[in-house]
Amino acid sequence: MEFKNTLDFAQTLDEKDALKAYRKKFHFPQVNGKDVIYFTGNSLGLQPKNAQKYVDDIMNDWRELAVEGHFYAEKPWWDYHERLAKPLAKVVGANPEEVSVMNTLTVNLHFLMVSFYRPTKTRFKILCEAKAFPSDQYMLQSQVRFHGLNPEETIVEIKKRKGERFWRTEDVISKIDEVGEELALVLIGGVNYYNGQVFDMEAITKAGKAVGAFVGWDLAHAVGNVALNLHDWDVDFAAWCSYKYMNSGPGNASGVFVNKRHLGKKDIPRFEGWWGTKKETRFLMQPQFDPIDNADAWQVSNPPVLSLAPYLASLQLFEDVGMDALIKKSNLLTAYLEFILHEVDKEVESTFEIITPKDRGCQLSVFLHGEGRAIFDYLMKNGVITDWREPNVIRLAPAPFYCSFEDMFRFGQILKEGILSK
Ligand SMILES: *Cc1c(COP(=O)(O)O)cnc(C)c1O
Repeated sequence: MEFKNTLDFAQTLDEKDALKAYRKKFHFPQVNGKDVIYFTGNSLGLQPKNAQKYVDDIMNDWRELAVEGHFYAEKPWWDYHERLAKPLAKVVGANPEEVSVMNTLTVNLHFLMVSFYRPTKTRFKILCEAKAFPSDQYMLQSQVRFHGLNPEETIVEIKKRKGERFWRTEDVISKIDEVGEELALVLIGGVNYYNGQVFDMEAITKAGKAVGAFVGWDLAHAVGNVALNLHDWDVDFAAWCSYKYMNSGPGNASGVFVNKRHLGKKDIPRFEGWWGTKKETRFLMQPQFDPIDNADAWQVSNPPVLSLAPYLASLQLFEDVGMDALIKKSNLLTAYLEFILHEVDKEVESTFEIITPKDRGCQLSVFLHGEGRAIFDYLMKNGVITDWREPNVIRLAPAPFYCSFEDMFRFGQILKEGILSK
């Protein structure tokens, strides 16, 4: 499609957009009396308008039923979390029994490491991307130290080549082959939070498994953003937060994937609690742990129903739309944003550069030369919500559920004004 940098053209794309009705299903913050142009769905998704009702329902049930709500609420609390597994499984390409919702992301990675990082004298190394999200780095380092090992000798980081802005799949795979029999675990962010790169999860998983390692993915920036086929790719485990592209609300619960092959086992190392035992025998209060034969076996506590409520509301929207339609719009919207950036770039003579490769979801990371911070501040003052990453990067993530083509056009105008006014 031949794009044009005009309001008319952008509005025509919006009219043809199969998802256009969904923009109205979200609350937008206002700046200068207008809806903002929201580029930070990769950090905290907007609030779906149906979320309030889901939360109110729980509050009402609690008020009117108290403890009886566990079994007699319209959506009983004791298995409330099970309602999320099926729609989530579609989002990540899994069987419903392979998916569960619990805790928060870094907590779940720690829990999953108990099962999937079992270093021996000869096989103990972990492979991850250089400059992984800080929480993931702290998590890995503390796990390694917990096992009495030295992070520097244990964690192998894959770096970008000198002068390049993204990782090459071939470099990841040759590193996996090089570490070979010493490799215990591959754990990488499926979509890099900084440059928006999508790793070739299928090829990397295959390579990791071929040398006998477990392979897990942190999908914080991938879930609800790019196509995932965790089951078919034969991934061992994955975890993600839900407040980014999944629009579930600040700090909300995390999802986990555990491959079917690891389910229903009593001998897998795991930190256990009462919500992971079989439902039929749970309230017999017996001393033996009898794991549920699905991913809920990793559930330790009874679930935080109040926070699962807005997550379930959001999943309703994912059910309605489906990932295929969402990704289709996302690709066009981000391509249009890229076009707009190039158009502005021509007019202002190269003050920035897109550092996101073609393997991407909706996010474009833009390296601003010169007056970066001032341009960022100008955008924020003028109703464009984006975020700033040191040393000089703004991340633009037009989430397809609620961002419009007109937003992209208007953003281009504001960006140009911002740069020319400096
Ligand atoms: C957002 C994000 C996190 C956040 O972790 P929490 O435990 O939810 O605070 C962790 N890892 C990555 C890669 C992220 O993008």
